[in-house]
Amino acid sequence: MENNLNNKKLLVFDIDSTLCDINKPIEESLVKVIRKLSHNYQIVFASGKPSSYITGFIRQVGVKDSIIIGENGATIMYNSIFPPQAYYKISVSDKVESHFTLIKQRFLEKFNNKIWFQPNDVNLTIFPLDISKIKEIHDFAKEFETLFINTYYHKDSVDFTPKGFDKGTAVTILLNKLKIEKENLYVFGDASNDLPMLLLTENSFLVKSSMKEINPLLSFNSYLELENYLEFFFKKEIKND
Ligand SMILES: [Mg+2]
Repeated sequence: MENNLNNKKLLVFDIDSTLCDINKPIEESLVKVIRKLSHNYQIVFASGKPSSYITGFIRQVGVKDSIIIGENGATIMYNSIFPPQAYYKISVSDKVESHFTLIKQRFLEKFNNKIWFQPNDVNLTIFPLDISKIKEIHDFAKEFETLFINTYYHKDSVDFTPKGFDKGTAVTILLNKLKIEKENLYVFGDASNDLPMLLLTENSFLVKSSMKEINPLLSFNSYLELENYLEFFFKKEIKND
C-alpha cells in the first residue's frame, strides 16, 4: 500500500476511555493535536466498536486518512470514509458462527428485550439497556466461555470474538503491510482488549488504567496528560525530522 509519510510511524489509539469517555466526544484540544500528528504520521483507531460507528465518529475529528481497526481486530478499514479505500474482515469458522448463534439465542431467552446487540460485521457484542444489569450480563456471559472464542468484559457490555484475532493481530498486519518497524509503533490503550497491541511495542502507553499485566513506557492519569505528551511528542519529532 502506498503512503507518502516521510517518517514512518504508526500511532495506534484505542478510543473509549483512552481518548474520551464512552459515548462522549474527544476534547477539542486533543482533537487538534491528533489532527496535527496525522499530517506526519499514520494514525490508527483501534476499537471494539464496528468500523461504521468509528467512521462516523472520525468524520468530525477530521482525519479521514486514518486507518480503522474495528471489532477488536476483526475488521480493518484503510481510511475512514464511505466507501473506504479497502476493507478487510476475518472469516469466521462454522463452529464460532454457531456458538455465536447459540449465545445470542440464550441471551434473548434470558434477557428478552432488556439487551441490545451492537450491529457488528463479525463479533457478538451485547449491551444491557439498563447499565445496572451489567453484572448479570457478565455473569451469564461466563457460561459461554470456550477455547475457541475470547470474551471481553467491558464496563457497559460484553464482547465475544473468535480466538486468534485481536487488536494485536490487526496491528501486526498493518506493520507488515505498511513496512513499519516495531520500534516505530506507538500504542495507547486502557483495557484488557488493548493488551495484545500494547505488548507489541516498548512504546506502550496507558491512559487512566490500573492494568497490571503490562509495564508501560508511560502511564497517563487524564486525557489532558495524554494530550500534553502528544504535543511534546510532535514538537520533539518534528525537530528531529
Ligand atoms: Mg478502551
